[in-house]
Amino acid sequence: MDNKIYCIGCGVEIQSEDPKKQGYLPKNVVEKSEDSQLVCKRCFRLKNYNEVSDVELGADDFYQLIKSLSKKDALIAKVVDIFDFSGSWIEDVVDIVGNNKDIVLIANKLDLLPKSVKQNKIKQWLFKVLKEKGIKVKDILLVSAIKNQGVEEAAVRLDQLRNGKDVYIIGATNVGKSTFINKLIELTSGDKNVITTSHFPGTTLGMIEIPLDRATSIYDTPGIILDYDIAHYLDAKSLKLVMPKKEIKARIFQLNAEQSLFFGGMARMDFVKGERQSFTLYASNLVEIHRTKLSNADALFEKHLGQMLKPPFEDNISIFGKQVRKSFKIDNRKTDIVISGLGWITVNSDSGCKIDILVPEEIEVFVRESII
Ligand code: GDP
Repeated sequence: MDNKIYCIGCGVEIQSEDPKKQGYLPKNVVEKSEDSQLVCKRCFRLKNYNEVSDVELGADDFYQLIKSLSKKDALIAKVVDIFDFSGSWIEDVVDIVGNNKDIVLIANKLDLLPKSVKQNKIKQWLFKVLKEKGIKVKDILLVSAIKNQGVEEAAVRLDQLRNGKDVYIIGATNVGKSTFINKLIELTSGDKNVITTSHFPGTTLGMIEIPLDRATSIYDTPGIILDYDIAHYLDAKSLKLVMPKKEIKARIFQLNAEQSLFFGGMARMDFVKGERQSFTLYASNLVEIHRTKLSNADALFEKHLGQMLKPPFEDNISIFGKQVRKSFKIDNRKTDIVISGLGWITVNSDSGCKIDILVPEEIEVFVRESII
């Protein structure tokens, strides 16, 4: 017997177990309803409050969803968190939707970067990453959804680029996709009643539709949790410290070779070789940095992980107990070593140096030309 109920808005199966997953509706609402014309909480919020909220998909379902986009003649707007940018996920998505799609990259959370970061440098860096990966995008738009910076310009640009077609907005969880779409809704819907949710017959993909005009729409899609991002492994208490809320302040350390810096207990930088020089750290202001001699670093980590070296906290060490060494040879150009989800270290070395980053294997670490 099939007693499953589907949301009449987005078509996904209604469930009452997990508020973060798609199709959620509290049990008492489901039980009280007399017919099967139910909408999930996400569609309900859109319909009644003109507000989208993020829901998560498992990786398989997410890639299935992305795959379905490859068949549509539409503009795909990919939202990324500029502070927590990982090229890998862009690559994955483009592999699936194909390189002949119209893609625009929306880099959000501009407000978190120090004011000294030049916007054109960020754009250059992003274009370079995409080029190296062989990915073509129509444009890169820098915004701060929360501060409403660049959102109006982005709306105008999206409208030009879509050329009368639909727009699908995709993004990983926490990049600010909902915040961005909600700002777009505010801008585009003079008449708040235009917001509807509509069902894709024959699919259970959980996209929801926000009409732009009579013929075309923006579609909000569920997000995915990326497993190479530090945020994936931290509990709520730790995330509050690690995800910056305010503009990041640079922290400068003068180090000799064979000194180490700990980012809480999440990552460690070993200055292996090179002349005395300064290292500038950019991470949430609430993450404590500890300095020690390289020769003491292992022992310190073993003794203090979860206590002095936190986050992570003692009761939830997760993957952080086991670190691997990722080595980087830095030349004399100003370089950022980026630890996905945590921040970056700017190295400005006259004569080059050797740096090791110790992190759990799962966490992505990469270098880029400095954006400062
Ligand atoms: P989603 O999961 O991608 O839909 O992301 P949300 O829109 O729910 O945002 C995730 C978190 O990032 C929330 O705490 C937001 O307040 C925050 N956020 C969203 N946009 C911005 C932004 O432009 N700047 C900053 N600093 N935070 C943002």
